[in-house]
Amino acid sequence: MPELPEVEVLVRYLQQVLPGRRIRAVTVKRPKSVRPDSVAVFEQSLKGQSVVSVTRRAKYLIFELEQRSRKTQMLGHLGMTGRMYVQPKADSLPKHTAASFELDKGRFVFEDTRYFGRLSLCLELLAKLGPEPLSEAFNSSDFFRGLQRSRQAIKVRLLASDLVVGVGNIYASEALFRATIDPRIPSNKLTRAQAKRLHAAIQATLQEAIALGSTLPLDWSGKEGRDQLFYFGRESGAKSNEERLLVYGRKGEPCHRCGAQIQRVVQAARSTFFCVRCQKTR
Ligand SMILES: [Zn+2]
Repeated sequence: MPELPEVEVLVRYLQQVLPGRRIRAVTVKRPKSVRPDSVAVFEQSLKGQSVVSVTRRAKYLIFELEQRSRKTQMLGHLGMTGRMYVQPKADSLPKHTAASFELDKGRFVFEDTRYFGRLSLCLELLAKLGPEPLSEAFNSSDFFRGLQRSRQAIKVRLLASDLVVGVGNIYASEALFRATIDPRIPSNKLTRAQAKRLHAAIQATLQEAIALGSTLPLDWSGKEGRDQLFYFGRESGAKSNEERLLVYGRKGEPCHRCGAQIQRVVQAARSTFFCVRCQKTR
């Protein structure tokens, strides 16, 4: 499942290829993928619009569009398996195309093998989101105060996305390892110093993943298979990306810091990976 760094890297790619492109026609192949909009309204509203920019909020992509003075926004979410990319017009559409956009040059494709991704003209749910992790809105004192209000295990609390958005299952484990905090301790038991370390670790973990993803030769349509770390495939002939995760998916392997075996526990039906020796309650 794509997490925030993958979405950010995708946005940076789309921001290079989409602005200035005009949408000549839109075809929705799977009505569910544009809900709550109707297919007809969705297709008609976007036809003739030009892409101004592509940005990100949490794991949502925001497409700013305009036609003369009429401005429109389209929200995108990859769900579990969504992919978005521009292909040459001569290429055939992939089997699991949810929607395709004929551009004045090339074709923008939203492909989704499972049905959890979305494109929508309704942006209301952006208003309810917590602070963006790499912005000033996410600060360690508010974060600490928010943690005080819950007894939920800290790992589970991070996924709730009201204190900070976009920290998914992989990066929650990674950030807690960096901050040397036991993922099982109740949120309100974190000290101010731990909250500060965790705040910094969340930012560093995400920034590093974005920086790495920005340097990889990625294949957005995923033809060369998927890399374990990065959700998108790699370009033909590119080397497999080096494993960079510190604890996630490493059950039984030695901790990079102390050599103890990495443990796996299940919290709220999701896997958590951690080092019992390095990650402490205090
Ligand atoms: Zn360790």
